[in-house]
Amino acid sequence: MSNSTAVVPMLRFIGVASALGAPGEMNPGPAVGPQALRRMGAVAAARRCGIDATWGASIEAPTGARWPALAALLTEVADEAAATLVAGGVPVVLGGDHAMAAGTWRGVGRALGAAPGLLWIDAHLDAHTPASSPSGNPHGMPLAALLGAGAPEMADVAGPPLDPARVAVIGARSFEAAEAQLLAAHGVAVFGMAEIEKRGLAAVFADALAIVAAGGRPYGISVDLDAVDPLLAPGVTTPAAGGLSGGELRLALGGALRTRQCVALEIAEYCPQNDPLGITARLAIDLVEAACTPDADELRQWETRYGARNYAPLPVVLAEGHGCWLSDRDGRRYLDLMSAYSAVSFGHGHARLVAALAAQAQRLAVTSRAFHSDRLPLFLKRLTTLTGYDRALPVNTGLEAVETAIKAARKWAYKIKGVPDGQAEIVACAGNFHGRSTTIVGFSSEAQYRDGFGPFAPGFRLIPYGDAAALTPRTAAFLVEPIQGEGGIVLPPPGYLAACAEICRRNDVLLIADEVQTGLGRTGYLLASRHDDVRPDGVILGKALGGGLLPVSAFLADARVMQVFTPGDHGSTFGGNALAAAVGLEALDLLVDEELIAHSAELGDWLLAQLRTLAGAHGKLIRAVRGRGLFAAIEVDPAHADARRLAEALAARGVLTKETHGTVLRLAPPLIITRDELAWGLARIDEVFADAGKRLRRAA
Ligand code: PMP
Repeated sequence: MSNSTAVVPMLRFIGVASALGAPGEMNPGPAVGPQALRRMGAVAAARRCGIDATWGASIEAPTGARWPALAALLTEVADEAAATLVAGGVPVVLGGDHAMAAGTWRGVGRALGAAPGLLWIDAHLDAHTPASSPSGNPHGMPLAALLGAGAPEMADVAGPPLDPARVAVIGARSFEAAEAQLLAAHGVAVFGMAEIEKRGLAAVFADALAIVAAGGRPYGISVDLDAVDPLLAPGVTTPAAGGLSGGELRLALGGALRTRQCVALEIAEYCPQNDPLGITARLAIDLVEAACTPDADELRQWETRYGARNYAPLPVVLAEGHGCWLSDRDGRRYLDLMSAYSAVSFGHGHARLVAALAAQAQRLAVTSRAFHSDRLPLFLKRLTTLTGYDRALPVNTGLEAVETAIKAARKWAYKIKGVPDGQAEIVACAGNFHGRSTTIVGFSSEAQYRDGFGPFAPGFRLIPYGDAAALTPRTAAFLVEPIQGEGGIVLPPPGYLAACAEICRRNDVLLIADEVQTGLGRTGYLLASRHDDVRPDGVILGKALGGGLLPVSAFLADARVMQVFTPGDHGSTFGGNALAAAVGLEALDLLVDEELIAHSAELGDWLLAQLRTLAGAHGKLIRAVRGRGLFAAIEVDPAHADARRLAEALAARGVLTKETHGTVLRLAPPLIITRDELAWGLARIDEVFADAGKRLRRAA
């Protein structure tokens, strides 16, 4: 939805604490929904989008006989909605059962002087009259009442009836024939689930919007939460199997309330007693936020305005991710060939990982290492068994694990190898990337990473990557990436790591492999060091270890090294917390259960073959292709092509990746990617190079 008339309105929340329209056994049911949504932060959700919002009114259902009570309630709802609009605000009516809509939209129409268009998002048609309704429950009747049909207690609320030509129903899948007939007789457009499944919600939503918002006239949105699949939103009064995904609906509502054309929002039928985990409350609040959210340009401006400018992201504002696919704020889809620098090896939102995260978050998350937890031991045991090391030291980010390795190596050098105090040296490679702490950038060969951040810690020496290590008796460790990721997916010559391992062994130097990016199946082995048949003395893992959900990293080594740490030597508040341990544990099990390492190796071979063909076809632009497993690179010739511009052109075609050093396009998709998905991405890459080739020929 476009935010063309970006006037930021003032929202006024109206809670309707009523279950008068719902089945009697649902009490208190939806009557307690609005206050639950208020407690869960409904107003804050609007405010965080830069929209002024207040909780304006809490309407209680009158007691007494159902129908007269309902009539009185609807009048009050209508009056509140009308008064809000008259005062220049935008009503956000939180139900209560959906019967209240018979009040909301009459009040809105009264204030506007004419009925608004109405988007009715619902599993049900809500177009019963007392004569046709099998249950007799008024919450099945509001749409008929708004059109002027049915019980006078609902249909006669003061205000204009809806214009059926400007009403559209989305998501219907559970209704009686009489309701469909009533709507058809009025000429109301109904977009059922079958059509939505075929065409996608975005396309259907656009059609429905064209109906309700025709001619630029005002419209409103009424959402019955049961429109969403009850597996995703169980906290409703009358669940109906199937339905919309919350994510699609969020995207569809994007920014609606920032246009003055959308004059009111209603969210009904939230039933806390069916929502013990609060998932549906969260969804309802997410829908409020979605309707308030700024457009992509404004979001980017906020990031630039309120954030430090230490990144230069591609101009894509991502809002959803599922598997290998990402969606931006406007619903455009992208294939993720980047996986957050290998952190998202399992794809976005893997059900198993999300379940592990959510369940553990609800149970126990952070206690600090001042106490044991029942998660960390399982994680440590699983991690060390899988990798074949004695012990692991868990931390959060990759650089912390690198720092841990450095501390371990130095202390090992002093206490065990016998290096004189203060003289331990760590040898690293030119072109390395191990993180961004002052210690680590101190031994970076990248001028920008160092510029302005000194003085740096002594004790590091750089040697060329690919040359066998030049080590001295004072050397504690040789720190190396089996493939230099940030350096440009640079593979050393075959046998390099094995030669390094041999030199380290002869000189009693620890070989420490930084496998933050290359580890956990990325290159077709559990650890990339295995390509050279090397078992490093220490291994650093990160990124994928957190399942793409949390920062989880670790330093692994045998007891002969790890023994140097004694209580108080090292630690961090969040390192090894129960939540991180639960997610890391699940990630490791998933890696094994889904046989992702073998998949990475097989598909990686295919990928490399495809890349060679691509290089053959675009020889002038592509200088080299290389890779191992699902960790590959296309190096362009900087004389003829600019990797940043290629990445931008790819984004425009629905493929996300990132250039490195202006010359390398990195291809590191989630390990769960299928060959078909990868082939689709490669076809887009081929197109982008073909375009660049055409431009080059034209320029020549
Ligand atoms: N080591 C390597 C090999 C990396 O690629 C990275 C991150 N790109 C790091 C360490 C640092 O990890 P983090 O950003 O989580 O600190």
